[in-house]
Amino acid sequence: VGERHWLPGLVKRAGLKPQDIKAILLTHGHLDHAGNLAWLREWSQAPVYAHPLEALHLQGAYSYTGTARICGLLEGLGRRMLDYRPVSIDRIFEDGEELPFWGGLQVVHLPGHTDGHCGFYSKKRRLLFSGDLFASFFYGAGLPPVIFNSNPHLIPTSLEKARQLRPGWVIPNHYDIFNPSWHRKRFDRLCRKILDQRDPGARPSHQPRR
Ligand SMILES: [Zn+2]
Ligand SMILES: [Zn+2]
Repeated sequence: VGERHWLPGLVKRAGLKPQDIKAILLTHGHLDHAGNLAWLREWSQAPVYAHPLEALHLQGAYSYTGTARICGLLEGLGRRMLDYRPVSIDRIFEDGEELPFWGGLQVVHLPGHTDGHCGFYSKKRRLLFSGDLFASFFYGAGLPPVIFNSNPHLIPTSLEKARQLRPGWVIPNHYDIFNPSWHRKRFDRLCRKILDQRDPGARPSHQPRR
């Protein structure tokens, strides 16, 4: 949400202009990721790429159910504080699609946190941008707090899908220190904890419930 204050400086330091930003790739539409999206889109003139199931989040019109209703209440307050402006997706993408950025970025649909939550995988660099699939801090990696997950029963399947990519590096959206190989190790540990120690009877079927 603070990007509005430091992004122009970062872009300038990299020797770039706002117009050099070719696309805005959204992992999902939660307010902490999309709070300044309208500004960013205008400032950079870049199109917003996102999964179609995130459109309602960006409109501020997603109806949360269950425990995640608390997330909806918090976002409602946050939108008012930030004078949030709804944004439309310029270009929708789908699972498995290869986006023509950074030498090719594959869209990896990882639902659970939100319905259209996606990661982006660079095969060339074996690097996964994992969005909010998990958070990585020094005391260990963990799933996002329950109130922030729209469909938590889909998360184990998404963890397994990300693990199957066998990334060498992982960059989550919420972390302590910028060290993609640590995050990969923490992700592996989290997968072992959640996926490998499950009661076999509790494994979700390969057809995730919707
Ligand atoms: Zn989120
Ligand atoms: Zn987040």
